[in-house]
Amino acid sequence: MTGRLVIVGAGQAGFALAAKLRALKDERPITIIGLENVIPYQRPPLSKKYLLGEMDFERLTFRPQNWYPENNVELLLSTYVEEIDRKAKRVRTQDGALLDYDTLALTTGSTPRTLPASVGGDLDGVYTVRDKRDADLLAGEMRPGRRLLIIGGGYIGLEAAAVARHLGLEVTLIEMADRILQRVAAKETADVMRVIHQAHGAVIRENTGLHRLVGENGKVRAAELSDGSTIEVDFVIVGIGVTPNDQLAQDCGLDVGNGIIVDEFARTSDPSIFAMGDCAMLPWKGRRIRLESVQNAVDQAEAAAAVMAGANTPYDAKPWFWSDQYDVKLQIAGFNMGYDETLVRPGSREGSLSVWYFREGRFIAVDAINDAKAYVTGKKLLEAGIEPAKTILADPAADLKQMLA
Ligand SMILES: Cc1cc2nc3c(=O)[nH]c(=O)nc-3n(C[C@H](O)[C@H](O)[C@H](O)COP(=O)(O)OP(=O)(O)OC[C@H]3O[C@@H](n4cnc5c(N)ncnc54)[C@H](O)[C@@H]3O)c2cc1C
Repeated sequence: MTGRLVIVGAGQAGFALAAKLRALKDERPITIIGLENVIPYQRPPLSKKYLLGEMDFERLTFRPQNWYPENNVELLLSTYVEEIDRKAKRVRTQDGALLDYDTLALTTGSTPRTLPASVGGDLDGVYTVRDKRDADLLAGEMRPGRRLLIIGGGYIGLEAAAVARHLGLEVTLIEMADRILQRVAAKETADVMRVIHQAHGAVIRENTGLHRLVGENGKVRAAELSDGSTIEVDFVIVGIGVTPNDQLAQDCGLDVGNGIIVDEFARTSDPSIFAMGDCAMLPWKGRRIRLESVQNAVDQAEAAAAVMAGANTPYDAKPWFWSDQYDVKLQIAGFNMGYDETLVRPGSREGSLSVWYFREGRFIAVDAINDAKAYVTGKKLLEAGIEPAKTILADPAADLKQMLA
């Protein structure tokens, strides 16, 4: 499989694919097409250190600008692919340019869900956080004493809350479900994170949805909440999940369903088109999942690069994730979907703790809060397929490492 590779999407997976091919000494021509006007960069700091003002853009980028020409990787920025002609093996960009491909990779990522205009989602001062531009606009709003409403108690919302409190804003976070982190973590993890946010002065209102945002001269001014109360706000961050960017794939007839459907080699229903990262729906332990993480974007892209370069190794996702909030590092190994039992283990130092997830008696994931040892052990156990001894987990004095012996 040689000839021109066109990569649509200049993000985490798109860059990792090109870089891995070059690391494998694959010299095919590569063109990366990206909608944004900046060279590829990592997103996680956008809701953490970059938003705090503690990291500049140069440190976000994967490689400096000159890496691309030096590695014969053509980078077309501020360019949007509008159409894929599979018969002609050609993509069309928004300005009508046509680019031929032999192999096409879709690494288009995902888009944050927004609020409809009917509830004030179109007012000025209402933000989502996905790219550098969003973070730059938000950074301009983050001034001490201002009132921020965050809608959604997932990782992005909680990380933004932590940054805003650090910068001295008044923060209210509302979550429609009965607790924060409902979709992604156990109650025990949510309970710890709630207490940490409250201790830092964030107001967390669970079981509370948005009725509507109220504007004045087109700018958000207040929020009417589902419990009948109204709060004054200066700006709003909406963190209510993402949807995969799979429209382009759907329009050209590829199999799509909550993401672009790929096999274990990251191939779509068209053998010359691959998809990876947030936009891909992949097979995993007998089911189909979509993973929204750096680990998956990089590992799946690198696995696809190896396949393109001639290997026949299937991608076996080993999910891991992290979130930084205040001085808390939450690290997650595994995928807790379908868990029916949890075990909480206090860590060796104050404020550290781990939550171990089981499904039908089998260990599937661990959340480690300021507990690197629990994270590393859990990750190794999952990778090796070893079941942890619950007696050791339940004994805070026992050394976790003995389970790996
Ligand atoms: C604020 C924030 C914090 C995060 N924190 C973490 C974290 O702590 N840990 C973690 O593991 N993950 C985190 N993530 C998730 C992680 O960044 C994503 O899972 C990862 O970036 C996915 O990589 P990707 O290449 O699939 O998509 P992206 O990196 O989003 O790249 C997709 C690119 O494709 C472009 N594009 C889309 N359609 C087209 C088109 N038709 N033509 C041209 N270009 C197009 C987009 O503009 C975008 O630049 C975070 C994400 C965000 C937004």
